[in-house]
Amino acid sequence: MEQEEQQTAWAGAPERIDFDDYPPNSPFAKQMTWAPCEACGIQVHAPVTQVAYRGLACPRCGAALLAAPDDPEEWVRRALREEDEFSEQL
Ligand SMILES: [Zn+2]
Repeated sequence: MEQEEQQTAWAGAPERIDFDDYPPNSPFAKQMTWAPCEACGIQVHAPVTQVAYRGLACPRCGAALLAAPDDPEEWVRRALREEDEFSEQL
């Protein structure tokens, strides 16, 4: 069965950061979401902007945990705008 110490996982690799947006060592805001995979006993985490297009799948067993919304462009537009606003406040 699953190991005790591993109870969370990223749904995928981190997104590439543009140096012009955020230089190294600068904090930035990223909206994240997550869902539990009960089969694997883990919490799966991913950026909202990724979930908007692909939904959220468990990286271990491939189970679909969250469905992508019907209007992904609107989700992504809103998330990116809010991330910009939040990042400016950091
Ligand atoms: Zn799973």
